[in-house]
Amino acid sequence: MKLQVLGSYGGDFKGRFPAFLVNNTVLMDAGTIGTALTLEKQLEIKTILLTHHHIDHMLGIPFFSDAIYGNGSSPVEIFALESVNKNLKSHLLNDVLWPDFTALPSRENPTIRCNNIDLNTEYNLPDGLSFTTLPTCHIGPSCGYIVCQDDVGLVYSGDTGICKPFWTSLTTFRREHPSVSIQAIIIECSFPSNRKSFAVATRHLTPELLAGEFENWDGERPDIMIFHMKPKYMAVIEQEIRALLGDRVWMLRPDEEYSITRDGIRSSHQTPDR
Ligand SMILES: [Zn+2]
Ligand SMILES: [Zn+2]
Repeated sequence: MKLQVLGSYGGDFKGRFPAFLVNNTVLMDAGTIGTALTLEKQLEIKTILLTHHHIDHMLGIPFFSDAIYGNGSSPVEIFALESVNKNLKSHLLNDVLWPDFTALPSRENPTIRCNNIDLNTEYNLPDGLSFTTLPTCHIGPSCGYIVCQDDVGLVYSGDTGICKPFWTSLTTFRREHPSVSIQAIIIECSFPSNRKSFAVATRHLTPELLAGEFENWDGERPDIMIFHMKPKYMAVIEQEIRALLGDRVWMLRPDEEYSITRDGIRSSHQTPDR
């Protein structure tokens, strides 16, 4: 499985809001698209999985829709919880802030199409990929994903605070899919540990809270990939995470590429202990 980091920050740092591209075709969250990809690469995207409706996770969609409009191929399929799709259409693609590309050029054959998903459910995608939804604990309706290719799994939390249901669902998935090896968890860490009360109030994680969450993982833990750092806290978050969680931790940064296989994770940009 190939993972490209289009954006990874929980605030504006050169416009690189969260978005992670799998195998060139499946985008997990859409905070950054055109800022990171050529038009040719944007046209390869066939699926977008949204975790929730906050604008830092959707910001790329209006301009992406405009860029790919009229390319002649089938609609790009967006998967999200029903209320997230509703909010995308009523607050962003509402024919006021931006045209409604779910009805352009026509409702029958639009540029992008919104599909409602349920929690704890598995869906198949083209090209041998599948995804399973996980509950997460953020402000408003939200979910995470397990994306699988053959027997390799990659978990993406989206934004979440402390969340027992997330780990319970993940444990159930592992029990029901013993052949799938979860190689990595992309999980958020927005604030340093001394901002715990604010993190808890806004349903985010700190390094200390994150370390506590991994006590819910049974067995050898997968690699941990950190995203959603608030830009002004990046250095201290990294320092704290490395002290608390040890090795096999990756601080995700824009334009990095990873190869994820059963043999482990390789990066063209960094080593996990940096
Ligand atoms: Zn966010
Ligand atoms: Zn959020």
